[in-house]
Amino acid sequence: MEYMSQRSGAVDLQEAWSKATVDLQSRVLSDSAAGIWLPNLEPIDMRGDVVTVAAPNAYQARYLESHLGDLLADCLSDALKHSVRVSFIVMPGSPAQRLEPPQPLRVPPPRRKEEFVSSPLLGKYTFDSFVVGASNRVAHAAALSAASSPGGTYNPLFIYGGVGLGKTHLMQAIGHDVKTRHPRLEVVYISGEAFLQNVLLAIRENKMDAFRERFRRVDVWLVDDIQLIASREGTRTEAEFFFTFNALYQGGRQIVISSDKPPKELLLIEDRLRSRFEMGLMVDIAPPDKETRMAILEQRAESLSAQIPGEVIDYIADKVESNIRALEGALVRVIYTASIDGCAIDVGLAHRCLEDYRREGDANGITLDAIKAMVAECFGVTEVQLASQQRIRSLVVPRQIAMYLARKHTDLPLQRIASEFKRHNHTTVLHACSRTEQMIQSDPSIGALVTQITDKLRRGSTM
Ligand code: ADP
Ligand code: MG
Repeated sequence: MEYMSQRSGAVDLQEAWSKATVDLQSRVLSDSAAGIWLPNLEPIDMRGDVVTVAAPNAYQARYLESHLGDLLADCLSDALKHSVRVSFIVMPGSPAQRLEPPQPLRVPPPRRKEEFVSSPLLGKYTFDSFVVGASNRVAHAAALSAASSPGGTYNPLFIYGGVGLGKTHLMQAIGHDVKTRHPRLEVVYISGEAFLQNVLLAIRENKMDAFRERFRRVDVWLVDDIQLIASREGTRTEAEFFFTFNALYQGGRQIVISSDKPPKELLLIEDRLRSRFEMGLMVDIAPPDKETRMAILEQRAESLSAQIPGEVIDYIADKVESNIRALEGALVRVIYTASIDGCAIDVGLAHRCLEDYRREGDANGITLDAIKAMVAECFGVTEVQLASQQRIRSLVVPRQIAMYLARKHTDLPLQRIASEFKRHNHTTVLHACSRTEQMIQSDPSIGALVTQITDKLRRGSTM
């Protein structure tokens, strides 16, 4: 650090550097190369808008420049309160042993037995249990057609629509149907999030070839919630997706993609990918009309062997409009309350059960306010701190977990969640979600904590 003291402004730079690296550490994977090498960097100099940063060797300098350069510049600009660029150099006079990459700081998570597997198909998500109405008729017909002749006319099939409207149900129904009709075809259903995790795993374990090989064997590829891939900063996941997509598409395999928004609104880096999506059939699922909502409630009541009077079905269908998951949750709540209290299911009961129903709460009635309060309590921070601009790790982690829970358990739009935490950009929420997923995967104690918070939210108790 002798370098620093000789230069004016060095203290400012050092201070800004400390802040920026804390910020950065929360934004890169701690066991990624960037995360491991970050502590080896040293800020050397700042002239005008260029900050010179030294890495121990040329390899790290090159790698970090391309993988971390922009993000580091962002964080430094934030900390310095003016915009800077970062220039990487090799540490002057760095001793030879520093040329060796450092050992990973963390023990890697236990290896899963079979890597790059698809997510399971749930038995209940079949075409039989899917109620068809005006809002989903076209999507349903397209899904049936893709299942009966995979790789045929509707390829790729792109299904988009809001949360809880049946995208996953339809995707999985295609999977089941293909398996029944064409038992020899290999079906892979995978969520965007799992795909992303697979790519990270393949990179970390240097198994990109195995990864590509695995997905190239697929006959019917069902990728659910593609927006999670598209919103990922950094192009690697998207590039891998593009690669697999092309290989399968050219091989005439069926590809079905779901998303919460149409292709033109996806944050894709690769424009060609967007046009590939648009080349096939795009269908949307709209919120169900009342008739469909009633039909879904009736079907669900039947599957639960519950006798529900028509006017109660009517009441619930009026009360819960936008989301089928919430609709089912409301019904279950009514049936459950009746069985606990030993009372009849009537409109009065439905009213009592649902009067505090908030559109933004999910089937469990988990609200954003409850999430904020619980996370704050659990981490020993205040709700104000959760929504502050402070980027220290002790706040960043709970903040990200709170956003993740809000995304997972409420129907609030991303923008609204972002603004609740005083963030301008909704991609902050998406970033928080993927970060939390990563933390859950790599750190069992975080996973346990998130589960514990969720349980308590469900029960409406305090920590
Ligand atoms: P999305 O993936 O769009 O968020 P899901 O497919 O998970 O939504 O659907 C949420 C819940 O609503 C699931 O339990 C699903 O079975 C149910 N559901 C959605 N659409 C229908 C439908 N048309 N008929 C019956 N159940 C449906
Ligand atoms: Mg879904």
